[in-house]
Amino acid sequence: MLTDMHCHLQDERILTFLPQVLEKAEKVGVDNFLCCGTNESDWQLVLDLHQEFPRIIPAIGIHPWFVNEISTNWREKFINILQENKECNIGEIGLDLYFYKDAIDKQKEILLAQLEIARSYSRPVSIHCLKAFHLLLPIINNFPDVKIMLHSFSGSLKIVEQILDMKNVIISFSTAILGNHKRSLNDIINIIPADRILLETDSPFQLPKSDLILNRDFNEPSNLILVLKKVAEYKNMEVEILRKQIIVNNGNFLGRK
Ligand SMILES: [Zn+2]
Repeated sequence: MLTDMHCHLQDERILTFLPQVLEKAEKVGVDNFLCCGTNESDWQLVLDLHQEFPRIIPAIGIHPWFVNEISTNWREKFINILQENKECNIGEIGLDLYFYKDAIDKQKEILLAQLEIARSYSRPVSIHCLKAFHLLLPIINNFPDVKIMLHSFSGSLKIVEQILDMKNVIISFSTAILGNHKRSLNDIINIIPADRILLETDSPFQLPKSDLILNRDFNEPSNLILVLKKVAEYKNMEVEILRKQIIVNNGNFLGRK
């Protein structure tokens, strides 16, 4: 079965409807959910969701938008959680020069600190990068031993070529590709081997403008199937063949077979 490799089920837009949202996803074959925290205030909620619904895989991180809201002992809290929860991943962390230019030095500092923790505790990492690949790539280049996914990938073909040389880095496409009709996206998806691709929705964010999506209130994990079909179409692959490959990729990334 498929895993939505990056979503935020703790978000209040989804939380009220969570049992129905999970059921709807399971009906279309999406039955695991990598749920990413974004700042200290939602980490516990993400862990609680994992307790209640074991198919929700927890991840905690400080998102670049929240680097100026951290507490003085965030590092200790972060490490404690990782030590107590062996299945907990790291994310969402990263760099954002599009929405949050002002704090870029702090963003780099907090990203680096979290990547070092990821290396020490051997946890896969989910990275957000908007308009900042020129800063991100030299940083992640120093972490060849950390499994990294570039979530909701938005980089250019040139960036993809550099990433493909980094064997520990995998590229994740979100529902954002459903509303993107740029020709370059076709070239980008085609150049990436199927074993270097992950799929996600980033729910409840990134609700695309697509007639295929009936729930217009928020994005949700059942829409992952539309991303799978779209990537298969771009790659000119059978959906079933791609689905099997993506399941293998998910297992490799999360360290499970
Ligand atoms: Zn996200």
